[in-house]
Amino acid sequence: MTTTEAPSVVGEATVGELQAAVRGPVIRPGDDIYDEARAVWNAAHDKRPALIIRCSGTADVIKGVEFARSQGLPLAVRGGAHSIAGFSTCDDGVVLDLSAMRAVTVDPDRRRAVAQGGATWADFDHETQAFGLAVTGGLVSTTGLGGFTLGGGIGWLLRRHGLTCDSLVGADVVLADGRLVHASEEENSDLFWGLRGGGGNFGVATALEYALHPVGPTVLGGLVFFPGAAAKDVLIRWRELTTSMPDELTSAVVLATAPPVPFLPESVHGTPIVAIGAMYCGPLSSGEDVVRPLRTLADPIADLMGPVPYVAMQQMLDPLWQAGAHNYFTSAMVDTIPDDAVDELIARWSAKPTPQSEIHVHHAGGAMARVPQEKTAFGERTSPYILNIIARSYDGASFGGDAAWARDARASLASYGPDAMYVNFTGEAGEDKVRASYPSATYAKLVALKTRYDPTNVFRLNQNIPPSSPTSREGN
Ligand SMILES: Cc1cc2nc3c(=O)[nH]c(=O)nc-3n(C[C@H](O)[C@H](O)[C@H](O)COP(=O)(O)OP(=O)(O)OC[C@H]3O[C@@H](n4cnc5c(N)ncnc54)[C@H](O)[C@@H]3O)c2cc1C
Repeated sequence: MTTTEAPSVVGEATVGELQAAVRGPVIRPGDDIYDEARAVWNAAHDKRPALIIRCSGTADVIKGVEFARSQGLPLAVRGGAHSIAGFSTCDDGVVLDLSAMRAVTVDPDRRRAVAQGGATWADFDHETQAFGLAVTGGLVSTTGLGGFTLGGGIGWLLRRHGLTCDSLVGADVVLADGRLVHASEEENSDLFWGLRGGGGNFGVATALEYALHPVGPTVLGGLVFFPGAAAKDVLIRWRELTTSMPDELTSAVVLATAPPVPFLPESVHGTPIVAIGAMYCGPLSSGEDVVRPLRTLADPIADLMGPVPYVAMQQMLDPLWQAGAHNYFTSAMVDTIPDDAVDELIARWSAKPTPQSEIHVHHAGGAMARVPQEKTAFGERTSPYILNIIARSYDGASFGGDAAWARDARASLASYGPDAMYVNFTGEAGEDKVRASYPSATYAKLVALKTRYDPTNVFRLNQNIPPSSPTSREGN
């Protein structure tokens, strides 16, 4: 990659004025750190922004939003840079990089935490677990809590404490016109509704406040690995168990290829493998009995389930999900997994294009399903399973075909549910995909909210809710 060309979209003098107005660095093509600064987690998105503003605080965010708007440039907002669809970068536009804004402050007495918009789950868990507190966080700790929370957020505490956005109690948001507002049940409650599931459509969350829950610091969790040949038995028995699992237990089936890791025998490396990932957050004394059936779904190859610090559980999968590969995720909410769906899952998995490609079946329900649909903008809450189909490769040249495998697999499996998607697991932009993520009443409300808060669609690099056009607004 060469970085010698100066951008043509913004003049020197204008960049100089911007740099004088913000405290964080303004990074441009040709700067030593440009390539490092423009890289995002998903190597499928190799974009060349005109400017990257590494914001030092809310004032820089305000300046950055105003700058992009006044220059008519595309604006990408970046928290943890884990967007599968590549929304946190762009060609020839402005990236508002929040990665230097990651402070987390905890009030243990009130059980509240406030995180800056660029914090990751590793940052958040570190601070909150000092007091034995947590909210539902990501399965991989390098993920940013900004994009994650605004899209919903599923993790090991999902069934006990709901989606991450269900624990959000307020946010400071820089709007498209540069104003900073607070959103909560009491203030700008319409915006607060939209922030809980509507993604980054309404502004930049510079601070997010969460209600915390007592968790750990030791939980019972980990992974149990079974041979690929046992996939059908594992899926069917797990499906039966999910009908009576307590909320304290959240689990997922992972259809994968055995990685070359020391805890798996060399003889299975590179062969199909089924893993159960699970975490029980209730009393440890009762946990052994609760998780035991998961450990005996078939003859295990390796059983790594046991008492573990919550923070370690949150980082358990990090080594397997490092940046640098090409990734495409797609999802479906699933109501039932009858035997023919099990067969279809296994057939699709067997046809995976690369060893790194996987299918995950998450057990949802519990607290997530008990929040009334209309309370937040999150789409489909009641399906008991969430399917995540992941095409992953280190070979960019053939990646288009790999992604097609994931899309086709989704098309054949979505009929076992309401054909709904989860915005955070959607690997590309597309109106059809956004519409498939929300019930029609929720979508209509999101459009009205977008029209109110961002009528010219400044925040459009996301699973975009387009505002209604001026003409259609005049007609209303
Ligand atoms: C390895 C990996 C593991 C994952 N695991 C899970 C999981 O366990 N559960 C789950 O639910 N999802 C998971 N996801 C999906 C994840 O929720 C989304 O990719 C999410 O967008 C990541 O947030 P981010 O801040 O890192 O993303 P970024 O790429 O930084 O941002 C993505 C988009 O979010 C918006 N955004 C980010 N920060 C802000 C902010 N502060 N204010 C306003 N808008 C903002 C912007 O629109 C931005 O374009 C995972 C993704 C990856 C790559």
